[in-house]
Amino acid sequence: RTVYVNGEYLPEDQAKVSIFDRAFLMADGVYEVTSVLGGKLIDFDGHVARLQRSLDALEIRNPLDRDAWLEIHRHLVSENGIEDGMVYLQVTRGAPGDRDFAFPPEDTPPTVVLFTQNKPGLADNPAAKTGIKVISVEDQRWARRDIKTVQLLYPSMAKMMAKKAGCDDAWLVEDGAVTEGTSNNAYIIKGGKIITRQLSSDILHGITRAAVLRFAREAQMEVEERAFTIAEAQAADEAFVTSASAFVMPVIEVDGVALGKGTPGPVVARLREIYLEEMRKAAI
Ligand code: PLP
Repeated sequence: RTVYVNGEYLPEDQAKVSIFDRAFLMADGVYEVTSVLGGKLIDFDGHVARLQRSLDALEIRNPLDRDAWLEIHRHLVSENGIEDGMVYLQVTRGAPGDRDFAFPPEDTPPTVVLFTQNKPGLADNPAAKTGIKVISVEDQRWARRDIKTVQLLYPSMAKMMAKKAGCDDAWLVEDGAVTEGTSNNAYIIKGGKIITRQLSSDILHGITRAAVLRFAREAQMEVEERAFTIAEAQAADEAFVTSASAFVMPVIEVDGVALGKGTPGPVVARLREIYLEEMRKAAI
């Protein structure tokens, strides 16, 4: 696989970053994951806009402009022959020559790393037919979840708690309400209404979330942006999660309680179909 590191395309085993990199020592970096379907990038501009937002929040300089980011994404997709898969992008505060809590001097160049992940048949993930099972786990992440940082230890631990419980993912709960999934936004559907937590620093502002809610409203579906509890989720007709790599994924069980008939429902299936169709059309 060819990867991109700080201005160079290299075979993955020749790519190197400093041991003093701020992301390695302090999780001082942000990332984006953009899906590729049919060799084209899904919602590229949404991801570049959020990258800028994350960098601004941490006062890290954006080393490249939109067109330069696009060029690198396309180069890697083409070079690695990716039909379906993902492009991972990471920007960190760079690598000063030592470890220090204070930010390094302004002229320290950010570290930029991009690589592809090949996922043939990404849009035909069998889990979209069967649905996934989630457990609830206390949300113990930091309070700026709207910044897409590489500080992913707690979500990773929550994912393992889910796996150990024989489930696929965890829904994180704070003050009695669901914030989001470990790596996705969470939704329930009750009486035809789509309910998902409102945007704030409590959750990541999902790029997929924005598109799905727009398509739902365009299709005259009712959307309510508010927090919901696990008990409400267990009494819902349907539920789902969204992310750049899972698209729209049905949830069929929450903490051992089956939702509705215990199989993926029609509203989620329709949302997934609309999302994939529209986003394939708009892919670049
Ligand atoms: N919430 C969290 C915590 C995430 O890590 C992600 C994606 O990685 C999402 C939500 C979904 O965001 P997006 O739709 O932009 O992929």
